[in-house]
Amino acid sequence: MVNKILLVGPPGSGKGTQGVRLSEILGLEHVAIGDLLRAEISSGSELGETIKAKVAAGELVDDDLILGLIETRVEEAAEKGYILDGFPRSVDQAQKGRKLAEPVGARPELVIYFDVPDDIVVDRLTARAEIEGRADDNEETIRHRLALFHETTKPLLEFYEKQGKARMIDATAPVDEVTEKILELMRG
Ligand code: AMP
Repeated sequence: MVNKILLVGPPGSGKGTQGVRLSEILGLEHVAIGDLLRAEISSGSELGETIKAKVAAGELVDDDLILGLIETRVEEAAEKGYILDGFPRSVDQAQKGRKLAEPVGARPELVIYFDVPDDIVVDRLTARAEIEGRADDNEETIRHRLALFHETTKPLLEFYEKQGKARMIDATAPVDEVTEKILELMRG
């Protein structure tokens, strides 16, 4: 069974939920870049201050900073496997990530692309805003994050299809079904 997986999809497509479930089922580490960034913001560090405005506006945080987060984890990831949620978010990041991962054997084996229509994303995130109160879950920022997804992140589908690693799943299906489908794809 493969153990190096990327979860790619628009905000609100269920990557975080599935990442947690899969890591519990498989005992793999779930790394969510957004969670790492929010933890840094909450810590009140100087770095957190730099990140805060970008995340709140739904902009991408600078590649150097994100690659720094990846770099410290790449060797352990090669050894133990991973479920990575939120990286890469652009083809540029994927190419930079590859340079870090390739030498240590940490490249992803399978890329799950969460397919979900925009209007469902907006509904889901608006509902999440009431529960979690994330600063970036307001309608204007949601629309911006979605536009950014289409422009910058979606090209990753073709990028990984060319490598034979991408699999698209229907992320509007019930949570259990999505988990089952991913496990099936991992089994190959
Ligand atoms: P998420 O929790 O995955 O929705 O991410 C929340 C926010 O964190 C995003 O809207 C970005 O501002 C930032 N972020 C997460 N992952 C990345 C990344 N790979 N590159 C740049 N910014 C990121």
